[in-house]
Amino acid sequence: MKNKTIQKNDIKIIKFEELNWKQIEGLDKNKTIFFLPISPLEEHGPHLPVGTDLLAIRDATTEAIKILNKKNPDLTYVLLPAIPIGYCKFNTDFPGSISVSGKVVREIVYSVGLALANHGFKFLIICTYHMAVGHLKGIYSAMDKLESKFDIKTCEPWSPYFHNKEMEKREPKLGFDTRKEVHAGFRETSLMKYQYPYLVDESYKNLQSIYRDMNSPRVLGKTFKQLGLKDGYIGSPAKADAGYGRWFFNETVNVFVKSALDLYGGKKPPELPLRIKTAMRALFWQ
Ligand SMILES: [Zn+2]
Repeated sequence: MKNKTIQKNDIKIIKFEELNWKQIEGLDKNKTIFFLPISPLEEHGPHLPVGTDLLAIRDATTEAIKILNKKNPDLTYVLLPAIPIGYCKFNTDFPGSISVSGKVVREIVYSVGLALANHGFKFLIICTYHMAVGHLKGIYSAMDKLESKFDIKTCEPWSPYFHNKEMEKREPKLGFDTRKEVHAGFRETSLMKYQYPYLVDESYKNLQSIYRDMNSPRVLGKTFKQLGLKDGYIGSPAKADAGYGRWFFNETVNVFVKSALDLYGGKKPPELPLRIKTAMRALFWQ
């Protein structure tokens, strides 16, 4: 029997794991963009699920593909399965955090890219909400290696946006300093209240604001509990607002849509700020 080729109209989202190799071979190498969502399972305070980053990034990527299918149906967009892996050693003193070395992150991203590049595919977008430098180092060294060895273009859109403080420039005015919202605070609790309200424990309303300057050299190498973060969050979860969560989610989706079209169009992706690049270089694999 003849293998069924993919009909754009009968599938909204093309999922990599549902394709056979004939269908993968049949994709236009120059016009297919792959999306790889990757974020660790890690504690997100006493009120959010350990899959917060993973669920949120998978959904934002899926939504971006839906929009791209309409915006530029000339291209094919393939969603790879979300990989529940990342570096988050600093909060493994809570149950639920699973951390792998940045080297493992590098190996996984590189292997996925290699499998695609070896068969002539040209575009890979890595999607993550997890902004830890040790995690990003794994992703960026895989991307560098892929681009230097193969004719493949890669990008990771969210960390340049996040670390260049684009969010603070663009978000609705809130009347408090969102720069202090680091982990499972106002932003992520809002995001989950919008996407998965049934997974947000009501106790978030009574959580006190807790802040730590994560750029201070004094926090270097310390775990969350060693920093006195006994509940595992940094920020003000009680302020969470589903309306902001919607804005945050859509902002991510828009960044992914733009990045995909720019990558295809040959535009250079935005870069990480120098301080993050330097931190990445200085960091030992853990
Ligand atoms: Zn998170």
